[in-house]
Amino acid sequence: MKVAEPTIERLVQYYRLLTQLKEEGRRVISSQEIGEMLGLKASQVRKDLSYFGEIGKRGVGYHVDRLHDHVSKILSHPNVWRIGLVGVGRLGEALLGHKSLRSDKFGIEAVFDVDPNKVGKMIEGVPCFHVDDMPKILKEKKIEIIILTVPAQAAQQAVDKAVASGVVRGILSFATAPLVVPPDVLVYGVDIAAELEKLLFYLKSSTSKE
Ligand code: NAD
Repeated sequence: MKVAEPTIERLVQYYRLLTQLKEEGRRVISSQEIGEMLGLKASQVRKDLSYFGEIGKRGVGYHVDRLHDHVSKILSHPNVWRIGLVGVGRLGEALLGHKSLRSDKFGIEAVFDVDPNKVGKMIEGVPCFHVDDMPKILKEKKIEIIILTVPAQAAQQAVDKAVASGVVRGILSFATAPLVVPPDVLVYGVDIAAELEKLLFYLKSSTSKE
C-alpha cells in the first residue's frame, strides 16, 4: 500500500497522541477531540483512519487501546525483532554479512563465540561477546531470537545459556544436533544437507521411471 508522506506524518502524530492518552488511562476518544488536540479537521482524522480500516462508532468514538495498536501496526512501530547469532565461523559470518539478514523487521544486535580472536571485536559491524556472557547480554539488549551456527557438540550448551537469559523466545538452528528447550521456546531447524538428500531422492525416483 503506497501512502502519501503527509498521511504518514499525521499517522505519527496520531501514534504519539494515542501513546500519551494510553499512558493517562484514557479509554475512548472522538475524531473531534483528536482533531482539536492536533490542529486537524475531524473529517480529516476520520478519513485517515477509515482509509486504514478503523472506523469509530458514532457517538462513542474510537477505543484508545485498539486504535493505538492499529496505528502502531501500520507504522510497524516499535516491533523490530532483535537477534543474536552464536558461533561466528564460516556459516555464521556468511549469514551475518548477507543482505537477506538486513531488514527493518529484525536486526542482529550481538554475536557470540569462544574464539579469543573474535571476542571483543566488531564483526560485520556487530559486537562479538564471549558465549559465557550470553545470559547477561541477551537480557540487556532484549534479544528474543537466536541463530545457532556453532559445532553440533557445542549446540546444547549454547542453547542452555541463551535460555538462561529468560528473554529468548525462538531459535533458528543450523547445528545438526537435537536440542532440548523449555516449552515456551520455539526451535526451527535448518538442515541444508537433509534438503539435498531429499532432492537427490526425488531425482533418483524420477530418473528410475524413465
Ligand atoms: P565453523 O567451525 O567454521 O564455525 C563454528 C564457530 O563456532 C567458530 O567461530 C567457533 O569458534 C564457534 N564456537 C565453537 N564452540 C563454541 C561455543 N561453545 N560457543 C560459541 N561459539 C562456539 O563451523 P561452520 O562450518 O560455520 O558450521 C557451523 C555449524 O553449522 C555446524 O554445526 C555445522 O554442522 C552447521 N552447518 C549446518 C548446515 C546445515 O545445512 N544445517 C550447513 C553448514 C553448516
